[in-house]
Amino acid sequence: MKTVADYNFKGKKVLVRADFNVPLNHNRQVTDDTRIRESLPTINKIINDGGSVILISHLGRPKGGFEMDYSLTPIVPVLTKYLNKPIVFTRDLYGPRTVEECGKLQPGDVVLLENFRFYEEEENADEEFAKKIASLGDAYVNDAFATSHREHMSTYTLAKFFPNDKYFGLLLANEVNNLNKILYSAQHPFTAIIGGAKVSTKLAVLKNLLGKIDNLIIGGGMRFTFAKALNGKIGNSLYEEKNIKDASEIINATIQHGINLYIPEDSVVADAFSDEAQTKICSTFDIPEGWEGMDIGPKSIRKCAEVINSSQTVLWNGPLGVFEMSKFRKGTKSIAIACANANMKGAFTVIGGGDSIAAINMFDLADQFSFVSTGGGAMLEYMEGKTLPGVQALLD
Ligand code: AMP
Repeated sequence: MKTVADYNFKGKKVLVRADFNVPLNHNRQVTDDTRIRESLPTINKIINDGGSVILISHLGRPKGGFEMDYSLTPIVPVLTKYLNKPIVFTRDLYGPRTVEECGKLQPGDVVLLENFRFYEEEENADEEFAKKIASLGDAYVNDAFATSHREHMSTYTLAKFFPNDKYFGLLLANEVNNLNKILYSAQHPFTAIIGGAKVSTKLAVLKNLLGKIDNLIIGGGMRFTFAKALNGKIGNSLYEEKNIKDASEIINATIQHGINLYIPEDSVVADAFSDEAQTKICSTFDIPEGWEGMDIGPKSIRKCAEVINSSQTVLWNGPLGVFEMSKFRKGTKSIAIACANANMKGAFTVIGGGDSIAAINMFDLADQFSFVSTGGGAMLEYMEGKTLPGVQALLD
């Protein structure tokens, strides 16, 4: 892996594919600037070397053509504040202004180009377009882990034009190193906690982890597809009929691999999908009609915490319950605390996925994990054992 740390960019103009796909409020102000902050080490490394930076990113999913709602304009004041210098923002992508601004870049200068997804060439991974953009710089850096599972012009095609001058950004390298540690050199016992709403989106990850883990905790709404596969009565709980067979296969595979499978035995159930609902605790495998499982119950919390506590490696993706509602938050919070305790005792703890990260931020526990992955879909695909196009393009 050639990273930006391995090269001195003095006098070079560097195209940096960052991920500034951040949440905005109604006034189009950035409400969570984590991704912008995380791109700073790479940008600063290049600037400190005496290079200049041409920043490329997307924001949201515009439908084709310019839409103010998806302009990168709101990123400018945040970047300016953190870099402590003015930056140039060009709206015309490969238009005369961009060519002019990039042409006169001096060491330390930073230019931000407009959202590439306003052009269909971005998602089509267009070679001609990539060639034009490549002509703006001397080197290419990808630091957009969260978009690296997309084979797009800026994450994939652009790298081809820099066969000897393409580098991993520090954020991307850090993601790859930490996720590789989980996949290929984890210390045992290794516990995976996989939760969230749907089992269908996590099947490939579950399958890829089977040969690697010692303990598997299934949380969230997806555990009811497993409970159903074991002939449980799940009342009105969420489940996916089409994936019952897959759940059975995973249960059988855990037996074959000697994995301890924990399908939380008790659940907090509710008579409606609402924070105002009536609730009670019952067996996950015997939920009355009219009631649905919303969180893991107290016995399960104790059991899962014990398992996590005795682990050397913990991988967590997907909340244990509907943590957005205060009545159903306890399972996710207790598991977050258990992970934080394991981390304090020296375990390697990794968490990823948009909702899981939102949860640990809510509990103020994000800094109690060894590594928090910035990628949702990208992390899942990496954990599935897939080679991400954005990573492959840098290695080819
Ligand atoms: P995912 O995107 O698949 O990781 O799912 C995250 C979502 O799963 C969160 O919004 C949770 O509220 C939701 N979730 C967790 N547990 C349950 C449950 N028992 N029933 C329905 N949704 C759930």
